[in-house]
Amino acid sequence: MTAERGSQTLPLFERYPVLREKLPHVSLGEFPTPIEELKRLGNQLGIDHLYIKRDDLSGELYGGNKPRKLEFTLGDAVRSGAKEVMTFGAVGSNHAVATAVYAQQLGLKSISMLVPQPNARYVRHNLLAGHCAGAELHLCGAVSESMVNKPLVYLATVCRLLHCRLKNGRFPYLIPPGGSSLLGAIGFVNAAFELRDQIASGETPEPDCIYVACGTMGTTAGLLLGLRAAKLNTRVVSVRVTSERFVNTGSMLKLVSKVNSLIHSLDASFPVFDFSAADIDIRHNNFGERYALFTEEAVEAASLMSECQGIGLDGTYTGKALAALIDDARNRVLRGKKVLFWNTLNSKKPPASTSDLDYRNLPRCFHRYFRQEVQPLDRDSEK
Ligand SMILES: *Cc1c(COP(=O)(O)O)cnc(C)c1O
Repeated sequence: MTAERGSQTLPLFERYPVLREKLPHVSLGEFPTPIEELKRLGNQLGIDHLYIKRDDLSGELYGGNKPRKLEFTLGDAVRSGAKEVMTFGAVGSNHAVATAVYAQQLGLKSISMLVPQPNARYVRHNLLAGHCAGAELHLCGAVSESMVNKPLVYLATVCRLLHCRLKNGRFPYLIPPGGSSLLGAIGFVNAAFELRDQIASGETPEPDCIYVACGTMGTTAGLLLGLRAAKLNTRVVSVRVTSERFVNTGSMLKLVSKVNSLIHSLDASFPVFDFSAADIDIRHNNFGERYALFTEEAVEAASLMSECQGIGLDGTYTGKALAALIDDARNRVLRGKKVLFWNTLNSKKPPASTSDLDYRNLPRCFHRYFRQEVQPLDRDSEK
Protein backbone atom coordinates (compact mmCIF):
# COMPACT_ATOMS: atom_id res chain seq x y z
CA MET A 1 0.00 0.00 0.00
CA THR A 2 2.58 2.54 1.10
CA ALA A 3 4.40 2.43 -2.22
CA GLU A 4 1.28 3.34 -4.21
CA ARG A 5 0.25 6.11 -1.90
CA GLY A 6 3.48 7.99 -2.58
CA SER A 7 3.89 11.69 -3.16
CA GLN A 8 1.94 11.34 -6.43
CA THR A 9 -1.30 11.67 -4.56
CA LEU A 10 -0.56 14.77 -2.44
CA PRO A 11 -3.33 17.27 -3.21
CA LEU A 12 -0.79 20.13 -3.16
CA PHE A 13 1.31 18.38 -5.79
CA GLU A 14 -1.71 17.65 -7.97
CA ARG A 15 -2.49 21.35 -8.04
CA TYR A 16 1.16 22.45 -8.37
CA PRO A 17 3.02 19.63 -10.17
CA VAL A 18 6.27 21.60 -10.25
CA LEU A 19 6.40 21.32 -6.46
CA ARG A 20 6.42 17.55 -6.75
CA GLU A 21 9.76 17.80 -8.55
CA LYS A 22 11.21 20.44 -6.25
CA LEU A 23 10.10 19.56 -2.72
CA PRO A 24 11.58 16.70 -0.71
CA HIS A 25 8.88 14.30 0.45
CA VAL A 26 8.55 10.80 1.85
CA SER A 27 5.20 9.14 2.39
CA LEU A 28 4.77 8.25 6.09
CA GLY A 29 1.14 8.76 6.99
CA GLU A 30 -2.37 7.72 6.00
CA PHE A 31 -4.09 10.48 4.07
CA PRO A 32 -6.64 11.93 3.69
CA THR A 33 -7.62 11.73 7.34
CA PRO A 34 -11.38 11.36 7.88
CA ILE A 35 -13.75 14.19 8.76
CA GLU A 36 -16.62 13.22 11.04
CA GLU A 37 -19.63 15.05 12.38
CA LEU A 38 -19.68 15.42 16.18
CA LYS A 39 -23.45 15.17 16.62
CA ARG A 40 -23.64 14.59 20.34
CA LEU A 41 -20.98 17.11 21.30
CA GLY A 42 -22.57 19.63 18.91
CA ASN A 43 -25.94 19.12 20.60
CA GLN A 44 -24.40 19.59 24.03
CA LEU A 45 -22.76 22.83 22.97
CA GLY A 46 -25.60 24.18 20.85
CA ILE A 47 -23.56 24.06 17.64
CA ASP A 48 -25.61 22.82 14.67
CA HIS A 49 -22.69 21.84 12.48
CA LEU A 50 -19.67 20.58 14.38
CA TYR A 51 -17.04 18.41 12.70
CA ILE A 52 -13.68 16.93 13.58
CA LYS A 53 -10.63 16.44 11.38
CA ARG A 54 -9.23 13.11 12.52
CA ASP A 55 -5.53 13.86 12.22
CA ASP A 56 -5.20 11.64 15.29
CA LEU A 57 -5.39 8.84 12.70
CA SER A 58 -2.73 10.33 10.40
CA GLY A 59 -0.22 7.50 10.81
CA GLU A 60 -0.13 3.76 11.29
CA LEU A 61 2.82 4.00 13.70
CA TYR A 62 2.10 7.37 15.26
CA GLY A 63 -0.62 9.89 14.40
CA GLY A 64 -1.40 13.50 15.25
CA ASN A 65 -0.21 16.58 13.41
CA LYS A 66 3.48 15.64 13.31
CA PRO A 67 3.50 13.06 10.46
CA ARG A 68 2.35 15.72 7.97
CA LYS A 69 5.39 17.84 8.80
CA LEU A 70 7.80 14.90 8.96
CA GLU A 71 6.89 13.81 5.44
CA PHE A 72 8.73 16.95 4.30
CA THR A 73 11.44 17.36 6.97
CA LEU A 74 12.48 13.71 7.02
CA GLY A 75 12.11 13.74 3.23
CA ASP A 76 14.71 16.50 3.22
CA ALA A 77 16.94 14.57 5.63
CA VAL A 78 16.85 11.54 3.33
CA ARG A 79 17.46 13.67 0.24
CA SER A 80 20.48 15.29 1.88
CA GLY A 81 21.94 11.86 2.64
CA ALA A 82 21.76 12.29 6.42
CA LYS A 83 22.20 9.25 8.63
CA GLU A 84 21.11 10.95 11.86
CA VAL A 85 18.49 13.53 12.77
CA MET A 86 18.49 15.69 15.88
CA THR A 87 15.42 17.39 17.24
CA PHE A 88 14.26 19.36 20.27
CA GLY A 89 11.31 19.49 22.63
CA ALA A 90 10.03 19.09 26.16
CA VAL A 91 10.43 15.68 27.80
CA GLY A 92 6.84 14.79 26.90
CA SER A 93 7.19 16.03 23.32
CA ASN A 94 4.87 14.27 20.85
CA HIS A 95 7.06 15.64 18.09
CA ALA A 96 10.19 13.97 19.47
CA VAL A 97 8.38 10.61 19.60
CA ALA A 98 6.97 10.98 16.09
CA THR A 99 10.42 11.91 14.79
CA ALA A 100 12.02 8.90 16.50
CA VAL A 101 9.37 6.49 15.21
CA TYR A 102 9.46 7.63 11.58
CA ALA A 103 13.24 8.18 11.51
CA GLN A 104 13.61 4.57 12.63
CA GLN A 105 11.27 3.45 9.85
CA LEU A 106 13.51 5.25 7.35
CA GLY A 107 16.68 3.76 8.83
CA LEU A 108 17.83 7.03 10.38
CA LYS A 109 19.15 7.38 13.91
CA SER A 110 17.42 10.04 16.00
CA ILE A 111 18.66 12.18 18.84
CA SER A 112 16.20 14.07 21.07
CA MET A 113 17.41 17.07 23.07
CA LEU A 114 14.73 17.45 25.74
CA VAL A 115 13.98 20.10 28.36
CA PRO A 116 11.92 19.78 31.57
CA GLN A 117 8.14 20.22 31.74
CA PRO A 118 5.42 19.56 34.33
CA ASN A 119 5.01 15.84 34.86
CA ALA A 120 2.07 13.93 33.37
CA ARG A 121 1.29 10.33 32.52
CA TYR A 122 1.80 11.02 28.83
CA VAL A 123 5.34 12.24 29.58
CA ARG A 124 6.17 8.75 30.81
CA HIS A 125 4.55 7.10 27.78
CA ASN A 126 6.40 9.36 25.37
CA LEU A 127 9.79 8.86 27.03
CA LEU A 128 9.34 5.08 26.82
CA ALA A 129 8.05 5.28 23.24
CA GLY A 130 11.01 7.42 22.15
CA HIS A 131 13.45 5.03 23.77
CA CYS A 132 11.72 2.03 22.15
CA ALA A 133 11.98 3.72 18.77
CA GLY A 134 15.73 3.81 19.24
CA ALA A 135 16.06 7.52 19.99
CA GLU A 136 19.06 8.74 21.95
CA LEU A 137 17.45 10.83 24.71
CA HIS A 138 19.17 13.74 26.42
CA LEU A 139 17.81 15.91 29.19
CA CYS A 140 19.41 19.34 28.90
CA GLY A 141 19.20 22.66 30.63
CA ALA A 142 17.32 21.17 33.56
CA VAL A 143 17.75 23.42 36.56
CA SER A 144 14.63 22.03 38.22
CA GLU A 145 11.39 20.44 37.11
CA SER A 146 10.07 23.80 36.01
CA MET A 147 13.23 25.72 35.16
CA VAL A 148 15.10 25.56 31.88
CA ASN A 149 18.47 27.22 31.50
CA LYS A 150 18.73 28.26 27.84
CA PRO A 151 22.54 28.64 27.65
CA LEU A 152 22.85 25.11 29.05
CA VAL A 153 20.54 23.81 26.31
CA TYR A 154 22.69 25.45 23.64
CA LEU A 155 25.88 24.18 25.23
CA ALA A 156 24.57 20.62 25.43
CA THR A 157 23.40 20.83 21.81
CA VAL A 158 26.72 22.13 20.51
CA CYS A 159 28.59 19.41 22.42
CA ARG A 160 26.32 16.72 21.01
CA LEU A 161 26.66 18.12 17.48
CA LEU A 162 30.45 18.09 17.72
CA HIS A 163 30.33 14.59 19.15
CA CYS A 164 28.31 13.41 16.10
CA ARG A 165 30.65 15.25 13.73
CA LEU A 166 33.71 13.57 15.22
CA LYS A 167 32.08 10.16 15.33
CA ASN A 168 30.41 10.12 11.92
CA GLY A 169 32.23 12.79 9.95
CA ARG A 170 29.09 14.90 9.54
CA PHE A 171 26.53 16.81 11.51
CA PRO A 172 23.06 15.36 12.05
CA TYR A 173 20.10 16.83 10.13
CA LEU A 174 18.41 19.34 12.45
CA ILE A 175 14.64 19.53 12.89
CA PRO A 176 13.42 22.46 15.01
CA PRO A 177 10.99 22.07 17.96
CA GLY A 178 7.56 20.86 16.88
CA GLY A 179 8.93 20.16 13.40
CA SER A 180 7.91 23.69 12.44
CA SER A 181 10.58 24.47 9.87
CA LEU A 182 9.38 26.06 6.62
CA LEU A 183 9.33 22.61 5.03
CA GLY A 184 7.41 21.17 7.99
CA ALA A 185 4.73 23.84 7.69
CA ILE A 186 4.23 22.88 4.03
CA GLY A 187 2.68 19.68 5.36
CA PHE A 188 -0.22 21.84 6.47
CA VAL A 189 -0.38 23.82 3.25
CA ASN A 190 -1.04 20.43 1.73
CA ALA A 191 -3.55 19.62 4.51
CA ALA A 192 -5.64 22.63 3.43
CA PHE A 193 -5.73 21.29 -0.14
CA GLU A 194 -6.75 17.93 1.29
CA LEU A 195 -9.62 19.66 3.08
CA ARG A 196 -10.59 21.43 -0.16
CA ASP A 197 -10.82 18.04 -1.92
CA GLN A 198 -12.99 16.67 0.90
CA ILE A 199 -15.31 19.66 0.58
CA ALA A 200 -15.42 19.26 -3.22
CA SER A 201 -16.36 15.59 -2.89
CA GLY A 202 -19.20 16.42 -0.48
CA GLU A 203 -17.60 14.74 2.53
CA THR A 204 -17.98 17.92 4.54
CA PRO A 205 -19.33 21.45 4.05
CA GLU A 206 -16.86 24.31 3.88
CA PRO A 207 -16.20 25.24 7.52
CA ASP A 208 -16.58 28.84 8.66
CA CYS A 209 -13.82 28.27 11.17
CA ILE A 210 -11.21 25.77 12.31
CA TYR A 211 -10.15 25.48 15.96
CA VAL A 212 -6.61 24.19 16.40
CA ALA A 213 -3.98 24.08 19.15
CA CYS A 214 -0.98 26.25 18.43
CA GLY A 215 2.45 25.48 19.93
CA THR A 216 5.22 26.24 17.43
CA MET A 217 2.85 27.64 14.77
CA GLY A 218 3.77 25.32 11.89
CA THR A 219 0.29 23.80 11.81
CA THR A 220 -1.54 27.12 11.86
CA ALA A 221 0.83 28.91 9.50
CA GLY A 222 0.58 26.10 6.95
CA LEU A 223 -3.21 26.04 7.23
CA LEU A 224 -3.53 29.82 6.86
CA LEU A 225 -1.45 29.82 3.70
CA GLY A 226 -2.98 26.64 2.30
CA LEU A 227 -6.57 27.75 2.87
CA ARG A 228 -5.88 31.01 1.05
CA ALA A 229 -4.18 29.22 -1.83
CA ALA A 230 -7.03 26.67 -2.00
CA LYS A 231 -9.53 29.56 -2.13
CA LEU A 232 -11.36 28.60 1.03
CA ASN A 233 -12.80 31.32 3.25
CA THR A 234 -12.34 29.33 6.43
CA ARG A 235 -10.99 31.28 9.39
CA VAL A 236 -8.34 29.68 11.60
CA VAL A 237 -8.67 30.10 15.37
CA SER A 238 -5.23 29.30 16.83
CA VAL A 239 -5.38 28.44 20.48
CA ARG A 240 -2.05 29.33 22.06
CA VAL A 241 -0.63 26.60 24.31
CA THR A 242 2.96 27.88 24.64
CA SER A 243 4.42 31.17 25.81
CA GLU A 244 3.38 34.35 24.03
CA ARG A 245 7.08 34.84 23.24
CA PHE A 246 6.71 31.98 20.74
CA VAL A 247 3.13 32.39 19.59
CA ASN A 248 2.03 35.89 18.63
CA THR A 249 0.61 37.70 15.62
CA GLY A 250 3.94 39.15 14.48
CA SER A 251 5.76 35.81 14.51
CA MET A 252 2.82 34.11 12.82
CA LEU A 253 2.78 36.65 9.97
CA LYS A 254 6.54 36.21 9.53
CA LEU A 255 6.29 32.43 9.38
CA VAL A 256 3.38 32.47 6.90
CA SER A 257 5.25 34.89 4.67
CA LYS A 258 8.48 32.84 4.76
CA VAL A 259 6.66 29.63 3.86
CA ASN A 260 4.84 31.51 1.10
CA SER A 261 8.14 32.88 -0.30
CA LEU A 262 9.75 29.46 -0.23
CA ILE A 263 6.92 27.83 -2.18
CA HIS A 264 6.75 30.74 -4.62
CA SER A 265 10.52 30.51 -5.20
CA LEU A 266 10.09 26.84 -6.16
CA ASP A 267 7.01 27.37 -8.31
CA ALA A 268 6.30 30.91 -9.44
CA SER A 269 2.70 29.95 -10.31
CA PHE A 270 2.01 29.66 -6.55
CA PRO A 271 0.96 33.25 -5.73
CA VAL A 272 2.42 35.50 -3.06
CA PHE A 273 -0.47 36.43 -0.78
CA ASP A 274 -0.98 39.41 1.45
CA PHE A 275 -1.65 38.56 5.07
CA SER A 276 -2.37 41.12 7.75
CA ALA A 277 -3.02 41.02 11.49
CA ALA A 278 -6.75 40.82 10.71
CA ASP A 279 -6.21 37.33 9.25
CA ILE A 280 -4.62 36.04 12.44
CA ASP A 281 -6.88 34.95 15.29
CA ILE A 282 -4.81 33.77 18.24
CA ARG A 283 -6.61 32.94 21.49
CA HIS A 284 -4.61 33.59 24.63
CA ASN A 285 -7.26 32.90 27.25
CA ASN A 286 -7.03 29.14 27.41
CA PHE A 287 -3.29 28.83 27.96
CA GLY A 288 -3.40 28.81 31.74
CA GLU A 289 -0.20 29.34 33.68
CA ARG A 290 2.39 27.66 31.51
CA TYR A 291 3.20 25.13 28.83
CA ALA A 292 2.03 21.59 29.61
CA LEU A 293 0.30 22.63 32.83
CA PHE A 294 -3.30 21.45 32.42
CA THR A 295 -6.21 23.79 33.10
CA GLU A 296 -9.55 22.80 34.66
CA GLU A 297 -11.28 23.87 31.44
CA ALA A 298 -9.01 21.74 29.28
CA VAL A 299 -9.57 18.68 31.44
CA GLU A 300 -13.35 19.27 31.38
CA ALA A 301 -13.31 19.77 27.62
CA ALA A 302 -11.40 16.51 27.19
CA SER A 303 -13.91 14.64 29.41
CA LEU A 304 -16.82 16.06 27.44
CA MET A 305 -15.28 14.93 24.14
CA SER A 306 -14.61 11.51 25.60
CA GLU A 307 -18.14 11.12 27.02
CA CYS A 308 -19.94 12.39 23.92
CA GLN A 309 -17.77 10.97 21.16
CA GLY A 310 -15.29 8.50 22.66
CA ILE A 311 -12.32 10.48 21.33
CA GLY A 312 -9.41 11.14 23.68
CA LEU A 313 -7.89 14.62 24.02
CA ASP A 314 -5.02 15.85 26.20
CA GLY A 315 -4.48 18.62 28.75
CA THR A 316 -1.49 20.25 27.04
CA TYR A 317 -2.81 20.87 23.52
CA THR A 318 -6.16 19.62 22.30
CA GLY A 319 -8.08 20.05 25.58
CA LYS A 320 -7.10 23.73 25.59
CA ALA A 321 -8.12 24.08 21.94
CA LEU A 322 -11.53 22.53 22.60
CA ALA A 323 -11.92 24.73 25.70
CA ALA A 324 -11.60 27.80 23.43
CA LEU A 325 -14.26 26.38 21.12
CA ILE A 326 -16.54 25.74 24.11
CA ASP A 327 -16.02 29.32 25.33
CA ASP A 328 -17.14 30.63 21.95
CA ALA A 329 -20.13 28.26 21.87
CA ARG A 330 -21.22 29.50 25.32
CA ASN A 331 -20.87 33.09 24.14
CA ARG A 332 -23.14 32.16 21.23
CA VAL A 333 -20.54 33.16 18.66
CA LEU A 334 -20.91 29.84 16.84
CA ARG A 335 -24.69 29.90 16.26
CA GLY A 336 -25.45 28.63 12.76
CA LYS A 337 -21.73 28.31 12.00
CA LYS A 338 -19.97 25.33 10.48
CA VAL A 339 -17.17 24.54 12.89
CA LEU A 340 -14.25 22.16 12.37
CA PHE A 341 -12.18 20.99 15.33
CA TRP A 342 -8.76 19.93 14.03
CA ASN A 343 -7.56 17.07 16.23
CA THR A 344 -3.75 17.27 16.39
CA LEU A 345 -3.24 14.54 19.01
CA ASN A 346 -2.02 11.03 18.24
CA SER A 347 -4.52 8.29 19.15
CA LYS A 348 -2.52 5.25 18.02
CA LYS A 349 -1.56 2.98 20.89
CA PRO A 350 2.19 2.40 21.21
CA PRO A 351 3.48 -1.11 20.48
CA ALA A 352 3.11 -3.55 23.39
CA SER A 353 6.88 -3.59 23.83
CA THR A 354 6.65 -0.02 25.16
CA SER A 355 4.46 -0.84 28.15
CA ASP A 356 6.65 -3.83 29.01
CA LEU A 357 9.69 -1.61 29.20
CA ASP A 358 11.08 -0.77 32.63
CA TYR A 359 11.81 2.96 32.99
CA ARG A 360 15.14 2.08 34.58
CA ASN A 361 16.35 1.30 31.05
CA LEU A 362 16.16 5.03 30.31
CA PRO A 363 19.04 7.37 31.14
CA ARG A 364 19.02 8.12 34.86
CA CYS A 365 18.08 11.77 34.52
CA PHE A 366 14.59 10.77 33.30
CA HIS A 367 13.76 8.45 36.21
CA ARG A 368 12.28 11.23 38.28
CA TYR A 369 9.40 11.57 35.81
CA PHE A 370 8.44 8.02 36.81
CA ARG A 371 9.13 8.35 40.52
CA GLN A 372 7.59 11.74 41.13
CA GLU A 373 3.87 12.32 41.07
CA VAL A 374 2.14 13.69 38.00
CA GLN A 375 0.54 17.15 38.12
CA PRO A 376 -2.68 17.34 40.21
CA LEU A 377 -5.10 17.77 37.29
CA ASP A 378 -3.70 14.67 35.61
CA ARG A 379 -4.10 12.70 38.84
CA ASP A 380 -7.75 13.79 39.16
CA SER A 381 -8.55 12.64 35.66
CA GLU A 382 -7.07 9.23 36.34
CA LYS A 383 -9.68 6.52 35.98
C1 LIG B 1 2.85 19.60 18.47
C2 LIG B 1 1.42 19.61 18.78
C3 LIG B 1 0.60 20.74 18.53
C4 LIG B 1 1.18 22.05 18.10
O1 LIG B 1 1.35 22.18 16.71
P1 LIG B 1 2.29 23.36 16.20
O2 LIG B 1 2.41 23.12 14.75
O3 LIG B 1 3.59 23.19 16.91
O4 LIG B 1 1.66 24.65 16.52
C5 LIG B 1 -0.75 20.65 18.77
N1 LIG B 1 -1.27 19.52 19.28
C6 LIG B 1 -0.54 18.44 19.56
C7 LIG B 1 -1.21 17.26 20.16
C8 LIG B 1 0.83 18.45 19.33
O5 LIG B 1 1.56 17.37 19.63
